[in-house]
Amino acid sequence: MKTKQPTRRAFIKTAGAGAAWFAVPRFLHASSSLNGNPSPNLIVIFCDDLGYGDLGVFGHPTIRTPHLDRMAHEGQKWTNFYAAASVCTPSRAAIMTGRLPIRSGMCSDQRRVLFPDSAGGLPSSEITIAEALKPKGYATACIGKWHLGHLPQFLPTNHGFDSYFGIPYSNDMDNTTKIGREAFWRPKTEYFNVPLMRNEEIIERPADQNTITKRYTEEAVKFIKENKEKPFFLYLAHNLPHVPLFTSDHFRNTSPRGLYGDVVEEIDWSVGRILETLKGESLDQNTMVVFTSDNGPWLTYDQHGGSAGLLREGKGCTFEGGMREPTIFRWPDHIKPGVVTDMGSTLDLLPTFCKLAGADAPEDRVIDGVDLRPALFGTGPGPRDLMFFYRGQQLYAVRKGEYKAHFTTELSYYKDNKKTYHDPPLLYHLGHDPSEKYDIAKDHPDVIADIRREVEKHEATLIPVEDQLAKRLVKINKQDG
Ligand code: MG
Repeated sequence: MKTKQPTRRAFIKTAGAGAAWFAVPRFLHASSSLNGNPSPNLIVIFCDDLGYGDLGVFGHPTIRTPHLDRMAHEGQKWTNFYAAASVCTPSRAAIMTGRLPIRSGMCSDQRRVLFPDSAGGLPSSEITIAEALKPKGYATACIGKWHLGHLPQFLPTNHGFDSYFGIPYSNDMDNTTKIGREAFWRPKTEYFNVPLMRNEEIIERPADQNTITKRYTEEAVKFIKENKEKPFFLYLAHNLPHVPLFTSDHFRNTSPRGLYGDVVEEIDWSVGRILETLKGESLDQNTMVVFTSDNGPWLTYDQHGGSAGLLREGKGCTFEGGMREPTIFRWPDHIKPGVVTDMGSTLDLLPTFCKLAGADAPEDRVIDGVDLRPALFGTGPGPRDLMFFYRGQQLYAVRKGEYKAHFTTELSYYKDNKKTYHDPPLLYHLGHDPSEKYDIAKDHPDVIADIRREVEKHEATLIPVEDQLAKRLVKINKQDG
């Protein structure tokens, strides 16, 4: 049996419901350099725990997201786009560096993410998108949740960002109550003593989370307006809809989806404000905006968690619901509007952005990302054919083409920590079976053999590094002075 995957074609359609699918011939579209415009502005809007099925344009029946829906109509809706981990810290390390977190020490089998007592963070030897773009004169801002280390040496301002405004770790940390999960069902700002920082200073504690999305948006608009004369990179990482859910007065009790819907609809409003600002400042044609999320929905929080739509499982696991994200690219007059089914990943942003900016991507290390320009501009097939699915430091699954092999499975975060090993691995055809229901391993030993070879090749590139998530601050024992 042949092991070769069918030639992948870019099927593009208008994003509206009911539009017919059609294959668009590849065309040479105006790239930034061809346009005499070598340094486009780059904006990443990164959500926290937003599920694949949580936007109107990705099929949610009651969450209203008119701005994101329009963004998808005007740009590209990507239906096979992955975060590189199923929880916050490793996923953020990946988007910032273009490298799987196993290479930077930002994933662990001991602790899944960084906590307020963590002593580790993104090593200074790693090169972030902001650092890669700096030689090309980019102004850089990080607004929102960082979660790559809260100690000064790990903060965004020491990783290539000119400024930082946001919370250094998750909005559910520093829980001050004794009521456990009860605090999440009726969240109050004072229950979570999370600091709000500007650059390296704490300016508010606890952060008023009710107004946080609104304030991140105001900061983003201000940054865009202040830097419109030079190229800029804005990383706007909302800390919602991660639980506990907070929303401003204007959105509270307004969504048919309840509090979770209020929160997502406020993020949608924020996206609208960003796009409106770009238009108002005549930056629309010179700015690529990417919208995506760090991992899937936190299903164990019931109605306070989102939905992965037709995908299996959610946050914390390596089934599709844990890592496939609702993703939109928009860059008027540059990228062809439509639906892209090619594979992509947050890993790919660093190499793609470097190419768009004319900047050099790091060459002294393995970069797991690929340059997505062929898929964005329609000049060729999407270059990503492989995706590795890690849980902690363990490789659980691999996708090659439309086939995904699960060597180990484990359900979502907190739901069931029992590992199941599979030999032969479970095999799903994600094109036919996006919900990963029907194991076809016995019919495709050749595909499994091919994926095993990819695993061997991949593992040969790994170099042991220090586990940054396992390191804890030493508590000072008061009795010892
Ligand atoms: Mg998250």
